[in-house]
Amino acid sequence: MEKRVRVRFAPSPTGGLHMGGIRTALFNYLFAKKHGGDFILRIEDTDQTRFVEGAEEYIIESLKWCGIEPNEGVGFGDGKHAPYRQSERKNLGIYKTYANKLIASGFAYYAFDTTEELEEMRKRLEAAKVVAPQYNAVSRLNMRNSLTLSEDDVKKLLDQGEKYVVRLKVPRNEEIRFNDIIRGWVTVNSAQVDDKVLLKSDGMPTYHLAHIVDDIEMEITHAVRGEEWLPSAPAHILIYRYLGLEAQMPKLAHLPLILNPDGNGKISKREARFPVFPLSWHDPREATPYIGYKESGYYPEAFINILALLGWNPGNNEELFSVDQLAQLFSFERVHKSGAKFDPEKAKWFNQQYLRAKSDHELSQVFKPILKEKGHEKDDTFMIDFCKLVKEKVQFVHEFWDHGKYIFEAPTSYDQKIMTKKWNNTSGTLFNSVLITFNSIDTWSSQNIHDAFEELLKTAGKIDMQLLRVLITGVAGGPQLFDMLALIGKDEVIKRLELALQKNN
Ligand code: GLU
Repeated sequence: MEKRVRVRFAPSPTGGLHMGGIRTALFNYLFAKKHGGDFILRIEDTDQTRFVEGAEEYIIESLKWCGIEPNEGVGFGDGKHAPYRQSERKNLGIYKTYANKLIASGFAYYAFDTTEELEEMRKRLEAAKVVAPQYNAVSRLNMRNSLTLSEDDVKKLLDQGEKYVVRLKVPRNEEIRFNDIIRGWVTVNSAQVDDKVLLKSDGMPTYHLAHIVDDIEMEITHAVRGEEWLPSAPAHILIYRYLGLEAQMPKLAHLPLILNPDGNGKISKREARFPVFPLSWHDPREATPYIGYKESGYYPEAFINILALLGWNPGNNEELFSVDQLAQLFSFERVHKSGAKFDPEKAKWFNQQYLRAKSDHELSQVFKPILKEKGHEKDDTFMIDFCKLVKEKVQFVHEFWDHGKYIFEAPTSYDQKIMTKKWNNTSGTLFNSVLITFNSIDTWSSQNIHDAFEELLKTAGKIDMQLLRVLITGVAGGPQLFDMLALIGKDEVIKRLELALQKNN
């Protein structure tokens, strides 16, 4: 029988979770959903020096906003594998047991080297022109560890409470092969792998040991993570092997990077052209907060849709997918090996598609408080008609104001270019007849304004509609003219036109 799919998202609370992290969570979520499996949130907080206040809460809130909620894990309910925070698991002695097992079987060892000794080693290796100096099968022979010291000395040091780390004993020259679901077979020689620290001197496990222990204990079937972990994977394979757990090892999938719009390097949080965080994030170590996708006006469904297509394709040209559709279609076979360029303009386009799918009523409800902040209040009918009229122009709800403020406010100036070009000595008389026509309309509606105009044109000759638009709104472009006049209202239109005639005559 196939094992139940269990995947995990395992961020470290070392800062705000950016869009790359959310995409990793999303691909895990989609895979679990497709296979009817479990999606777990594990917090990897073993590096106490990098812990950032508020980061864990931020991760949880972000996943909630995105609608990709784990069904097990920190903040989402305890399953049988609780706790899910590594610092708590460490207190239960889980990692030490595994480290001791590796030491007992000769695959890991104690290293007592001080920072100074490690620094000296580095200098020595550099002087000897070693390209990438590291603690490995060769250099460890000159260091203070349980491989070079006598058993008695090691015991003495341990009894004395001397500080130590536990390192993985990586063989000198051995081919390590593993199959990555996205990248296929990867072969690395162990000479390129350093003797990774497994337990630190503060008793904390490193990521390398802790995630393996947890993936095993939590019965994880697929470890899906960012490409930056690919270089460490050979060491991980050895750890599984030395623990005798290779058969239970999760399948590996290393996701491609998300690249800057210009394709050079991965997206950075200092990027000014677009948000990088799902929700606004204020790093306690930095002065200014970063604005999030949510606060920039993106819908979570749009954000998810954007992320899904960064590094994955559905195999056809379709672009708009709900989470449920994505879960149906998702497979690692369609995840690319190379980095995915992020296109901020396309991201806005996605949001626009989701906005257009919303009802005018819903849009009006969201726009209402924004409008109130600008000092205007209108009834529901007006708001709905307004949203219907301006909807095609906007990509975000807050843009309703930019694209429609002149509907709420009379102009204080008139597009100079249009006025210079089109206003002449006959304009005053002509627009006066427009004013009379407007006054004569009993039932103020788009259709009736249109019909009255048709009548007027028969006697008055050509009336420049763009000029009329400028006189009423101050600007040259905008939504359908008669619809807009109908919405602004008879009294207001007449008032504005009278004022414009006074000012420009
Ligand atoms: N804690 C690691 C990170 O933050 C997790 C890597 C993994 O998923 O194995 O990237």
